Amino acid sequence: MHIALIAHDKKKDDMVRFVTAYKDLLGKHHLYATGTTGKRLIEETQLPIHRFKSGPLGGDQQIGAYVSENKLDIVIFLRDPLTSQPHEPDISALMRLSDVYNIPLATNLGTAEMILQGVEAGHLEWRDIQREKGILNKDYRKYDV
Ligand code: PGA
Repeated sequence: MHIALIAHDKKKDDMVRFVTAYKDLLGKHHLYATGTTGKRLIEETQLPIHRFKSGPLGGDQQIGAYVSENKLDIVIFLRDPLTSQPHEPDISALMRLSDVYNIPLATNLGTAEMILQGVEAGHLEWRDIQREKGILNKDYRKYDV
């Protein structure tokens, strides 16, 4: 699985604790993160993580582009619901694209945990199989121009 990890500043400690708790499981997958989230996760968990730009500088849009290219299977985005963000349009766009492509998107720890338990149980393995066959999100191709 290809898993993106994003946390707003007040949620970064939660993200570090979450990834630490699920380190063994997450370590078996391809991990991606926005810049600052990724930096902290690499420092504190030593997991290999592909870092995009920082969220406010375009990282959320880069992750959205990956979603639209079927390069991601899961997005874990620990949003801060109590602080307004300068890049709110980018955040909305990423969530919208996750809905367009039916990518499981967790915006809080409760959902994130359920998704990882689903991964552990193999509930998303069909995505790897479909990706190998080149038929992942095939239905969306009719909208391609
Ligand atoms: P950051 O970006 O990991 O670079 O802080 C997260 C965000 O604000 O979207």
